[in-house]
Amino acid sequence: MKIGCPTEIKSQEFRVGVTPNAAMEAVARGHEVLVQSGAGIGAGFTDDDYTAAGAKILGSAKEVFDAADMIVKVKEPQAGERKMLREGQILFTFLHLAPDPDQTHDLIASGATCIAYETVTDGKGGLPLLAPMSEVAGRLAPQTGSWALQKANGGSGVLMGGVPGVRPANVAIIGGGVVGAAAARVAVGMGANVTVLDRSVPRLSYLDDVFMGRLTTQYSDKGAVEELLPRMDMVVGAVLIPGAAAPKLVSREQLSLMKPGSVLVDVAIDQGGCFETSKATTHQDPIYEVDGIVHYCVANMPGAVARTSTIALGNATMPHMLALADKGWKKACADDPHLLAGLNVHAGQLTYEAVGEALGIDW
Ligand code: NAD
Repeated sequence: MKIGCPTEIKSQEFRVGVTPNAAMEAVARGHEVLVQSGAGIGAGFTDDDYTAAGAKILGSAKEVFDAADMIVKVKEPQAGERKMLREGQILFTFLHLAPDPDQTHDLIASGATCIAYETVTDGKGGLPLLAPMSEVAGRLAPQTGSWALQKANGGSGVLMGGVPGVRPANVAIIGGGVVGAAAARVAVGMGANVTVLDRSVPRLSYLDDVFMGRLTTQYSDKGAVEELLPRMDMVVGAVLIPGAAAPKLVSREQLSLMKPGSVLVDVAIDQGGCFETSKATTHQDPIYEVDGIVHYCVANMPGAVARTSTIALGNATMPHMLALADKGWKKACADDPHLLAGLNVHAGQLTYEAVGEALGIDW
C-alpha cells in the first residue's frame, strides 16, 4: 500500500503523522511511504531521516494526497486538505467530528474511509491513541505550572521542591486519571506536597498503592476542594466525564480563598475547563490573571513538546497503521473491533453514532 504523510498545516501544529521509525517498519513490510518534504521538521525529523528509513520525499501535499492509498496525519484535515481526499482513500488521524459539522460534511462528501484516532478503543475500556497525549499533558502540567509560579510570571514565587528549612509547594490535582497520575508523578518528582482528588474510590486506591505514601488521596467533593484551596500553591484540573463538558469545580468566588499568585493549570480546558474562570490560551500567550490567581489554560499542551508527542503518538498509532496497510481497512477492522470503533465515515456515510447524534446526521 502507498502510505502518505503530508505536513501538518493547522496553526501551531508541529507534530507529524509518521515517524521515520514507523516508515521503516512499513517499508520493511513492502509498503511505500510518501512523505511531504519538511513534514517532520517541527518534530526534529529531516527529509534525510525519512529517506534513510526508505521513505520517498514528495514536494507538495497534493502529490502526497494524489499518490497515497492511505493518508496518516495528526490533526483533522483542514478545508484545503479535505478537497484532496478521494473515494476509496483511507484517512487515519485525529478527527473530533462531533463539534465540527463542516469537516463532517466534507469527509462524507469525499467518499473516503475515515478512521479517527480518538475513538479507537482497547480491551480495558481505554482510548489508547488519546492516552499518550494525556500522558504528555499531565507531565507538562506541573512543569508549566512551576514556571507560572515564578514571580516574573505573576506567581507567588514558591519553588516546587522548596529547600532545606523552607516548605515545598502544595499541589492539588483534581482528577486522578491518565493526566492526573502523570501530573502527580512529575509534581512528586519535583518535591512538591501532592494531593490527588477523584470521584472514583478504586482509582484513589490504585494511586495510593502505586505512589506508596508519596502523595495524599482525597475524595473529590465541594467541601474537600474548598478546604484545600487556601493551602494550595498550584491546582491542576484533570477531570473528564466522557462525552460531557468538564464540570466547574472551582468558582470565581472561591478564587478569593486562594493565596495571591497561586496557579491554576486547567488541562481539562479542551473539554471547556473545570475552573469557572478558565478560558483557552495558546503557547504564545499561555497565562492570564483573574483576581490575583494565575491561570494556564493551553488547549493543545502536547504541541509544546512536539518531538516527544510525535514519537509517543507514533508508537501508539503504528500497529494500527501497519494493520490497515497490510490487510486493507475492511479486513483490519473486521479482525479488530477496537480499530473498527475508530471508523467514523465510510463511502459517503457517517458511521459513528455519537457524531450523528451531536450533529443530527443519519449514521
Ligand atoms: P481520564 O478519564 O483518564 O481521567 C479523568 C478522571 O477524572 C477520572 O479518574 C474520573 O474519575 C475523574 N473525575 C471525573 N469527575 C470528577 C470530579 N468531579 N472530581 C474529581 N475527579 C473527577 O481522562 P484523562 O485522559 O486524564 O483526561 C483528563 C482531561 O485532560 C480531559 O478533559 C482531556 O480531554 C484533557 N486533556 C487535555 C490536554 C490539553 O492539551 N489541554 C491534553 C490531553 C488531555
